[in-house]
Amino acid sequence: MMWLSMRPNPATITMRPVHFGEGKARLYADFDGTYFPGHIKECQESEEKRADFKRYFGTISDFLRKAGDSIRFTLTTGRSLSSFQDAQRKLREAGIDMRLPKALIVNDGSDEFSRVEEVPPDAMRDDAFSWETLDTFRQERLADLADWNPDVVRQRVRTFLQRQGIAYRETSKNPVLNRGLAPLESWGDSPSQAKLEREGAFQLSLSVPKKAVDDVARFPSQFTRAVGHRLHVSFLEKSGDQFKFRIRPFVEGKKLGKSHDTIRAVDAAQLQDDLVLVAGNGHNDLDMLDPATYLPVFKRWETMPARLKPAIEQTPYLQDCLKKLPLMGIVVRDPEHPEPKLERLIQAYGEGPWRKIIPVEKGDLLNGIQQAIREYRVQNPQFQRKLDPQLREALGDPLPYRRQVLHTMGTMVSILHTGMRTLHSGFRAGFDYSLIWLRSFLGRPGWRLLPDAENAASR
Ligand SMILES: [Mg+2]
Repeated sequence: MMWLSMRPNPATITMRPVHFGEGKARLYADFDGTYFPGHIKECQESEEKRADFKRYFGTISDFLRKAGDSIRFTLTTGRSLSSFQDAQRKLREAGIDMRLPKALIVNDGSDEFSRVEEVPPDAMRDDAFSWETLDTFRQERLADLADWNPDVVRQRVRTFLQRQGIAYRETSKNPVLNRGLAPLESWGDSPSQAKLEREGAFQLSLSVPKKAVDDVARFPSQFTRAVGHRLHVSFLEKSGDQFKFRIRPFVEGKKLGKSHDTIRAVDAAQLQDDLVLVAGNGHNDLDMLDPATYLPVFKRWETMPARLKPAIEQTPYLQDCLKKLPLMGIVVRDPEHPEPKLERLIQAYGEGPWRKIIPVEKGDLLNGIQQAIREYRVQNPQFQRKLDPQLREALGDPLPYRRQVLHTMGTMVSILHTGMRTLHSGFRAGFDYSLIWLRSFLGRPGWRLLPDAENAASR
């Protein structure tokens, strides 16, 4: 009577959300180590490396060209705009053609730029992204959501430095970093003085002389407590005689990161039967790669990641949540420098029919993208049905009718399988029951049916 209970409930039919059905993919890829699988300085090093990079970008460009509008490609990097432009120029000078994305997000989710319309994706023009193409709508929305007023922050930083007795000097404004933004203040150029720079609309960097910092690890919390403003402060790097810290706002209760945009993309994808692909290789990609960012139900395992995998394996509800999430993460691994936090993601979400993380070797991003789309097609039949023809072609799919036949055969096999299993378990239950009955009927406890009979016969 199992099939009776499987009949769809009329209420669920009328309550189903409207699907606009696009079957497209949105790709968010990190730049250093992910989309560009190396170091910029390697381009100048050897002809062999250059040839490798050319070949790499050649194949990935071919795929993206074939996919056309069915994949919307965004690069999301920790670099600033000028630093990205610098990398782009060096690639161009080395003769490496890198296909450009539709949009570029810099400073870990701080500012987004769209590609200048006249610049085709395969033209390596240095001015493809500039302050003129800043997404001001996104910036305004973020400003509304973020607890962030750069002027207030600057004022408080100044007070903090005064109290700590750290020398600073107000100098001229920096015209390069500040293009298109409100005036920037920086203090001092000498290493004995602190310096505050505005790196984007939602990021400040504070350089403090080493001798003024007792403990680098404790400085961020000491600083935020003294400043009395909810800010996220993290240590960035040691440069010369200074420690550089990064100051960023909280947005909707969490620190601004790359996931700010991917969360919105996943929300949209859910309505339209699209898929969001995220690819990264570093700790700043963790928030956008982690399924728990999108499914709060997984948050409770954050403090005990070792128990997450068994929890998923034992809970069909969690498996279902994962399968329905229109997100696939691609972790680009560097065997020489494994990133422990990403390795944990691979362990928890990298296996099973509900897998959300595809690990690939450095330089194998395209393979990861293709695998991720194929994997999600199996997880979500709706997406499979509505898959954009261009994307289907780019993946090199078999003919549609053949796939239909295969799909029908697959469904029939699974129905047959379920039926057999039901019958089998039914028979087993019946058999077990008859054994119990037989035992109690014979009334001889301890008399094992078959093994003893066999033993007796062999003796
Ligand atoms: Mg990276």
